[in-house]
Amino acid sequence: SIRAPATKRTTTLSVAVKCRPLTGRERGRDIVRVHDDKEVLVLDPDLSKGYLDRIQNRTKERRYAFDYAFSPKSSNLDVYTRCIRSTIAGVVQGLNATVFAYGSTGSGKTYTMVGIRDDPGLMVLSLNTIFDLIQKDNSSDNFEVTCSYLEVYNEVIYDLLEKSSGHLELREDPEQGIIVAGLRSIKVNSADRILELLHLGNSRRKTESTEVNATSSRSHAVLEINVMRKQQKKYPNQVIRGKLALVDLAGSERASETNSGGQKLRDGANINRSLLALANCINALGKQQKKGLAYVPYRNSKLTRILKDGLSGNSQTIMIATISPADNQYHHTVNTLKYADRAK
Ligand code: ADP
Ligand code: MG
Repeated sequence: SIRAPATKRTTTLSVAVKCRPLTGRERGRDIVRVHDDKEVLVLDPDLSKGYLDRIQNRTKERRYAFDYAFSPKSSNLDVYTRCIRSTIAGVVQGLNATVFAYGSTGSGKTYTMVGIRDDPGLMVLSLNTIFDLIQKDNSSDNFEVTCSYLEVYNEVIYDLLEKSSGHLELREDPEQGIIVAGLRSIKVNSADRILELLHLGNSRRKTESTEVNATSSRSHAVLEINVMRKQQKKYPNQVIRGKLALVDLAGSERASETNSGGQKLRDGANINRSLLALANCINALGKQQKKGLAYVPYRNSKLTRILKDGLSGNSQTIMIATISPADNQYHHTVNTLKYADRAK
């Protein structure tokens, strides 16, 4: 039997904003200031004046406050330590959690979630902590950790751990809830190989060249980490299951801004469907947090159905909104901050 601990009933939502550094290739000017101490992010009018005057005749400083704000100097480990790590202990105790990166293409979503060897991302760091906690656990419980990695592209689910995956379907399982039928799930014993697996999986993600950005990723990637805990003493043979979903969302830029038609436009519409559905769920969670129960409409897209367990019940949701500091990304940055602000 599967038993959920009754310690938490409602879903908590926190919102972090992470500003990446200007990259070498970028000619744009830096228009974002982050005050880590006050968790406030500022689009600086002095720095951006000429540019903003030109595009919309607006010079007023805009300030946004979030649960957490990270400057370009922050590492993935900084983000992890301040807003994710404490949640991971809950997952080992049988709670569910969802962490997702939201932002336009090139804003640093994949960097934040997957990372590089010298700055491993939230997926790798989370898995590290899970194994750390299991190793230090002094109950006689048995643990099993499994991972799956999928993408939702054009409202179709593909397995990123398979070389050439077919279309996968969602099923309602009476015991496990919503599952992806046929999705590969691998048992892992350490976080060592995970970065390799994630890079391999990412190389299988569907990317399309659009007129906006040749490497624009139109797929949502979901790493799901399952922790099964078989109790030995207190409740012999009962199983506690904690689920952590880490999501690298498709670029949030609008389909209308990519001047492309046919197949690509349909992709855009579907991406918007999943993103919109997620936005609605996040909105509902925000309301739930402020005013008590509200219905969370997770049934409206593949992505939100997959994430259902992490968006409802005894779970914790953390949104990392990623932005670029460059002036030519101003519109995307404002859109992302508005979205993140609405979520709070
Ligand atoms: P997205 O997944 O949102 O499209 P990426 O994660 O691919 O964006 O980041 C875009 C570019 O910015 C990449 O070249 C990436 O290496 C770089 N980048 C993002 N965040 C950082 C960071 N914190 N430090 C250094 N480079 C970064
Ligand atoms: Mg990416």
